[in-house]
Amino acid sequence: METDRAIVVGGGVAGLSVAIQLAVRDYQVSLFESNDRVGGRANVIEFDGFKFDTGPSLLNYPWVFDELFKAAGTSLSQELELIRVDPAIKFYWPDKETFQPSSDLTRLSEQCRRLDPRDSVGLFNFLRDARRKYNLSFSRLVSSNSDSPLSWLSAAGVGNLRKLGLFRSMDSQLGKHFHSSKIREALGSYGMYLGGSPYDLPGIFSIIPFGELEYGLWLPSGGMYSLIEAMERVAVRIGVDVQTGSPVKSIDSTNGRVAGITLADGSIERAQVVVSNVDVPTTMTRLLHTETGLTSNGYKPPKMTPGVITYYLAVDRELPKLNHHSVFLPEDPKFAYDQLMKQGKVPDDLPFYVSVASNTDHSLAPEGKSAVFLLAPVPLMSQLPEADWERMADDLKSKMFRRMNDHGISIRESDVIKQEAWSPVDWSKEFGLFDGSAFGAAHNLRQIGPFRPRNISSTVSGLFFAGASTTPGTGVPMCVLSGRMAADRVTEWARKELAT
Ligand SMILES: Cc1cc2nc3c(=O)[nH]c(=O)nc-3n(C[C@H](O)[C@H](O)[C@H](O)COP(=O)(O)OP(=O)(O)OC[C@H]3O[C@@H](n4cnc5c(N)ncnc54)[C@H](O)[C@@H]3O)c2cc1C
Repeated sequence: METDRAIVVGGGVAGLSVAIQLAVRDYQVSLFESNDRVGGRANVIEFDGFKFDTGPSLLNYPWVFDELFKAAGTSLSQELELIRVDPAIKFYWPDKETFQPSSDLTRLSEQCRRLDPRDSVGLFNFLRDARRKYNLSFSRLVSSNSDSPLSWLSAAGVGNLRKLGLFRSMDSQLGKHFHSSKIREALGSYGMYLGGSPYDLPGIFSIIPFGELEYGLWLPSGGMYSLIEAMERVAVRIGVDVQTGSPVKSIDSTNGRVAGITLADGSIERAQVVVSNVDVPTTMTRLLHTETGLTSNGYKPPKMTPGVITYYLAVDRELPKLNHHSVFLPEDPKFAYDQLMKQGKVPDDLPFYVSVASNTDHSLAPEGKSAVFLLAPVPLMSQLPEADWERMADDLKSKMFRRMNDHGISIRESDVIKQEAWSPVDWSKEFGLFDGSAFGAAHNLRQIGPFRPRNISSTVSGLFFAGASTTPGTGVPMCVLSGRMAADRVTEWARKELAT
């Protein structure tokens, strides 16, 4: 058996990242992706001159990608052209109030002052506080592996725990600085993608809206999928053997050590190192085999983030009123999040977002037309076992059109030339997402840092994990970091193996 061969199962963002990082460390890397294209959730749909990113629609923390590319002897600017998007997001409320944050401090401060005159001062306090949290998190916690709560706590520094906002909610953290409930609702709405409501998630997550405001948002020219193409191109250039259309049936182990994988066509690939980029709970319940078969006995899946129905609409006209991102918030967000995440129901007053990337990059739709992406959060598949997803998709789309219409943004059914809609069932079938969860394991206090599903198997030596459901968490930059952190684990493991 070769000691320097590593197999990566799945070509999502973290799969590509770990493949690059291992190839750089002289592993002979083979990546097996079940679909005909890599990217996973960060995928692409193209038809009739329209191009839609399936999931992520903006890039943040560009230095994370630059570091990855630099490790492989190139750089982000050599591989991609980035279009700065600012302002990128506009929030809408049923009473017709709006909030349009920007990385331009004068504009941002004016937006805050408009909602509450005291909040232009609050903004500066927020930025100072969130910057401290952000710096502490990134320098000490987010990007390095930790083995126990104790080592995590000592890395954080016990004196910093309060400063990190671990013991108050995200909403109460924002409330320390902003009087306007609308600003709190807007900045807190990011919590939905982390699998909790801002009223329950820890205050440390106020660093997410801060990160976007402070460091900006970009669209790669040609759409987000250009980033995936660049990652694949770089991986292949440095020797990664990328095999698409190659579903893995099982990750095999003997005597507590990983042995390799079996592909769906029955062929066997051997390696002492296997990194699974397939959603961790899916890997654990569907892929991991020992001599006696599936080994999911006793495995307890983590709490997952909600599902989504996503829509890719080819619209027959321009939509100049819509920003790159528009977020439509409900009148009572707490009630809506409770319905979604605690009661397992579709919220009556639906929070949702719309993205018109073709307003930023005109190449994404034919002239005079728009590529429109809609995202409606919905419960997990297990919470709605009887759901008629197709019907729900139709109903929710009408609801979203009506809500947009209330704000003077009209998209009629007759404007839609062609469309696709993906329910949690589609997301699950297409990419192996556990229970149809869109963003992976939730980020409540019990599932962050040392409590998150680990990136090294505790039962099978030589098995590692990379992706949204393990450390550090969900989102494209985090998954790039997850790939590097999994590679660090492999290096550390190999060193110990050599020593024994
Ligand atoms: C609708 C939506 C919107 C989002 N918006 C944003 C955003 O704006 N910004 C942001 O940063 N993040 C966003 N995210 C989150 C981001 O897309 C994910 O966190 C990230 O892409 C997950 O990557 P991953 O490495 O976990 O791999 P995944 O995307 O989960 O990929 C796993 C890969 O494994 C493959 N696979 C599965 N089973 C097998 C098998 N048996 N054999 C071989 N291959 C297999 C799958 O086909 C897939 O390619 C969004 C996600 C969604 C769903």
